[in-house]
Amino acid sequence: NTFKALGLNEAILQAVSDMGFTEPSEVQEKAIPVLLKEATDVVALAQTGTGKTAAFGFPLIQKVDANNRNTQGLIISPTRELCLQITNELKNYSKYVKGLNTVAVYGGANIQEQARQISRGAQIIVATPGRMQDMMRRNLVDISGIDFCVLDEADEMLNMGFYEDITTILADTPKSKQTWLFSATMPKEVARIAKQFMNSPIEITV
Ligand code: AMP
Repeated sequence: NTFKALGLNEAILQAVSDMGFTEPSEVQEKAIPVLLKEATDVVALAQTGTGKTAAFGFPLIQKVDANNRNTQGLIISPTRELCLQITNELKNYSKYVKGLNTVAVYGGANIQEQARQISRGAQIIVATPGRMQDMMRRNLVDISGIDFCVLDEADEMLNMGFYEDITTILADTPKSKQTWLFSATMPKEVARIAKQFMNSPIEITV
């Protein structure tokens, strides 16, 4: 299989080629066509190291409108390290998409600087739960119009006690959005989030 056959556009294919990825990984092969085509919620069971960041990152980059500066996609991740790693990967994947900005929002760094970056236009925000809520409380971010919400490493986030934070954040997002949940395992806490906040998700397992 090829990345082109999955339906990715030229800008992303060029970045894929620059990175030296020769063929899609299993989770990419299974998730990318579904996320690109169908307006549906997805639960994907995939471990770290399987290429899951690109599995949701490529479709997200392709689906947001780079000509519109509003925030359209939100990725919630458990740790600052993962938040920065996802942000760097997304910036790399979208380097040929003119006007597309991805901003990282995480604790332990200057909140006003993060707010400034968002105010310049961030179609995609990658956030940790605590700092995201902090920014919401201070009205420094608007996620009321997002089209896509990715919950990355959902099992880790719930293990770390972020259930309340996640529900508070999701409560500020529109019902009409698509939710893509990625998790290495499916304990009952993750199933509960999926049941509460997702509409008949398509399940992908690798
Ligand atoms: P992840 O599971 O998203 O943390 O990705 C693990 C690593 O695999 C990252 O360094 C990616 O850049 C790399 N990677 C992702 N997809 C591919 C691919 N199709 N071919 C080769 N490397 C990849």
